Amino acid sequence: MSADNGDEFVDDAQVEAADLSGVSGQMLVASGKILAPGLYLVATPIGNLEDITLRALRVLRQVDRIACEDTRQTQKLLNHFGIQTPTVSYHMHNEGSRSEELVVALKAGGRIAVVSDAGTPGIADPGGQIAAAAIAAGIAVYPVPGANAALSGLIASGLPTEEFTFRGFLPAKGGARKTVLEGLARGGEVQVFYEAPHRILDTLADVEAVFGAAQWVVVARELTKLHEEFLRGPVAEVRKTLEGRTVRGEMVLLLAPAAGESVAARAKGSVAAEVAALMAAEGLAEKDALKRVARERRMGKSEAYRELQRGQGRLK
Ligand code: SAM
Repeated sequence: MSADNGDEFVDDAQVEAADLSGVSGQMLVASGKILAPGLYLVATPIGNLEDITLRALRVLRQVDRIACEDTRQTQKLLNHFGIQTPTVSYHMHNEGSRSEELVVALKAGGRIAVVSDAGTPGIADPGGQIAAAAIAAGIAVYPVPGANAALSGLIASGLPTEEFTFRGFLPAKGGARKTVLEGLARGGEVQVFYEAPHRILDTLADVEAVFGAAQWVVVARELTKLHEEFLRGPVAEVRKTLEGRTVRGEMVLLLAPAAGESVAARAKGSVAAEVAALMAAEGLAEKDALKRVARERRMGKSEAYRELQRGQGRLK
């Protein structure tokens, strides 16, 4: 089955050849076109129901089945838009077995949509496994793009958008979380995380311990919802603001590249100059300042130490 320009429409000639089981005549009359068989990864809103796309609504109406992370959650969305397509559960606990089952239906010419509770399936949500299984089985996979919390937070963060790394959720346990933060090979790009409201204060405390009180962060809360809020500032201040209230809602945490300095500005200074500046500005011990500079410049510890000594005139 071919499709024009990546679109999934089937033209009239193909309609005749297609397996039309499960497709109502009314649907064909209404659209004049039907969906090609295949897997549709459909983004849904992350709060504001107006963020569903026209294409998402059409696809959700026309597929045979919608595989949902939580069928009850998706049913609310379907009810809102008067969509009566049957649903089936597809979540992290049955992703493997359900993928196999759905791929059998897809191989038989089915049209199946996958949605998560909110946002883009496959992004910190189920979806990736069935996409890979469908591709391996030679089935067409169609992205139906829409809302995503990470990108929505990033574009309104005020941080540079040219380069960023999406890291999903940090580990829930403090020790493991700090280890991940310490191990971030940070260059000039923004780091984007998903975080839960009951963990954000601990995470901000860890960010402060690892990168210093001046590390610029943005907490993007309740995106697209009534109480949408952006907290932008040095991590110590944002933490103080949040400590004073009951923290609720969904959130994205973004870290600015290396304490808000531009990559170009950092590149100009020597390791020794940067270590000295950090010691003066944040009262860090030389070894801690050097550790931070090495990490931010993606240098090995011994290389950074040699650079420091060279800069301090202790190495010929
Ligand atoms: N697949 C989704 C997407 O495309 O954004 C993300 C799913 S992940 C399981 C859920 C996490 O995304 C939340 O814990 C939160 O960190 C973030 N998130 C989802 N909706 C959000 C919103 N409206 N505002 C801020 N963050 C949100």
